[in-house]
Amino acid sequence: MSIKDNINKLRMEIPEGVELLAVSKTKPIEDLEEAYQSGIRDFGENKVQELLNKVEHFHNDVRWHLIGQLQSNKVKYLVDKVYLIHSLSSIKLLNEIERVFGKANKVAKTLIQINIGREESKSGILEEELSEIIDAVEKCHNVLVKGIMVIIPKGDDESNREYFKKTKRIFEYLKKRDYKNINMEILSMGMTQDFKIAIEEGSTLVRVGQGVFGKRNYNVGGEK
Ligand SMILES: *Cc1c(COP(=O)(O)O)cnc(C)c1O
Repeated sequence: MSIKDNINKLRMEIPEGVELLAVSKTKPIEDLEEAYQSGIRDFGENKVQELLNKVEHFHNDVRWHLIGQLQSNKVKYLVDKVYLIHSLSSIKLLNEIERVFGKANKVAKTLIQINIGREESKSGILEEELSEIIDAVEKCHNVLVKGIMVIIPKGDDESNREYFKKTKRIFEYLKKRDYKNINMEILSMGMTQDFKIAIEEGSTLVRVGQGVFGKRNYNVGGEK
C-alpha cells in the first residue's frame, strides 16, 4: 500500500477528536511529502538533529513534535522549531527548557512522559515522582504542560490495555486538579501495533510510524 492509502485507511480507523501524528523518523523527505499531500501536518521525530534537518527542507506550516529522549544540551536548538515536546522526563530537563525558552522569551509546550511500566531501559517520570515535577512546573514561566505521553512495555493486547488504562487514570486525576501551567488536554499513547486499543482507552493522540510510512529498516531509540 502507498503512504496515501495507509493514511486514508488510518483516517477510517481513527475517530474524530483523536489526532494522528505521523512518525517520520528515518524516513526521507519524499515520503513526508507524500503524507503532506494527503493532508498530514503533524510529524514526529525522535532525534533533534534529524528534526532540524527536516524543518529546514520541508513545508513551513508543519507542526513538528519531538517524541524521543531529549538531552538538556540540545534544548537550545528547539526554540522556534518544535511545536510540542512529548518527552519531558526529568526536572533537570524541565529547568533547562525553562532557562533556554525564557532567554528567547518563548513558551515551550510539553507533555510529561511517564514511565508507566517502570522499565529501567526507558526514560520518563515514575508515578510517585509526579508531584515533584508538578511543583517544579508550577514555578515555571516559560513551560506549559499540555498532557501526558507514554511508551508502554512490550506485551500482548491485554497488558497493553492495562497500561493504557493506568495512564488514563493518572491523566484524569491530574486533569481535575487546578495546577498552574498545567492543562491536561493531550494524552499521547498508542503506536502502529496498539493504537486501536489506546483509542478505546482514551488516547487523544496516536503516534503512528510504520502504519503510515511502511516498515523501517533499522531500529532506533525509543522503540519497544
Ligand atoms: C518510533 C516511535 C513511534 C512509532 O512507532 P511505530 O511502531 O512505527 O508506529 C511512536 N512513539 C515513539 C516514542 C517512537 O519512538
